[in-house]
Amino acid sequence: MQKRVTRFAPSPTGYLHLGHAHAAMIAWARAREAGGQFLLRIENIDATRCRPEYEAGILDDMAWLCLGWDGPVRRQQDHLPEYRAVLEQLRAQGLLYPCFCTRADIAREVAASGQAPHGPDGPIYPGTCARLSAAEAGDRIAAGEAHAWRLRTRVAHHRVGALGYEEEGQGRIICAPEVFGDVVLARKDCPGSYHLCVTHDDAAQGVTLVTRGKELRAATDIHRLIQALMGWPAPIYAHHALLTDQHGAKLSKRDGALSLRALRAEGISPAEAFRRAGIKDAFRRPARASSGA
Ligand code: GLU
Repeated sequence: MQKRVTRFAPSPTGYLHLGHAHAAMIAWARAREAGGQFLLRIENIDATRCRPEYEAGILDDMAWLCLGWDGPVRRQQDHLPEYRAVLEQLRAQGLLYPCFCTRADIAREVAASGQAPHGPDGPIYPGTCARLSAAEAGDRIAAGEAHAWRLRTRVAHHRVGALGYEEEGQGRIICAPEVFGDVVLARKDCPGSYHLCVTHDDAAQGVTLVTRGKELRAATDIHRLIQALMGWPAPIYAHHALLTDQHGAKLSKRDGALSLRALRAEGISPAEAFRRAGIKDAFRRPARASSGA
């Protein structure tokens, strides 16, 4: 039987809060209960929002929570050539196009079109740059114009055929990635995007069970598409409910009062933090101790 491998993959854009403790504990426990591996990955491709002090905070908080991980921490910024190689392969398959639009350009285009279709992440990209000729796109790149790379999602899905994945406890989920429109696979400032890097890293690290919050469930359709295009295996997915505050709102990194470091400074114990994070039996651990960290 394949060894179970799970991961916790926070972005260091703020200090961790109770919602992260909840997510990290689930990934940790699902690995430990199966005698598998639990990995820690720092998803730090967004150089404008990620900060070293938040990354250090993640390591501190994980140590405080006693959630040890296996092997080295993977930092996405250390793997940019790998993302560039994936991009190159998809480009060679004719599935990508450069997009020169700014956010303002897209907002203007969407407003002008009256009733632009919406996807899970808001209005879908109106396809402005998909219509550029190869010559024009090439000239603009040669002139040094900043550009992202977008996936021709519909064409890509057509090429791989029917797609699905196993959601734990629910069976097979059929994917419809085109509801996102042509998603960005490489940002203007990085040879990858969340979708490309997370999918690449899950494959590269041999992750077999992806546990993460329900807000990312729709994005799994895009991830499955990338996996199929690249010939990578499909992990099993287990999307869990999000922790909410007393008003039912999703916890946010901006809400500093709920950060783990703030709770720690108040003298709250890790056990109490897990209790507040909705984890009841945090310390009922299997005998097998974790390595690393
Ligand atoms: N880095 C993402 C986040 O912090 C999580 C990625 C994932 O679990 O797929 O929300």
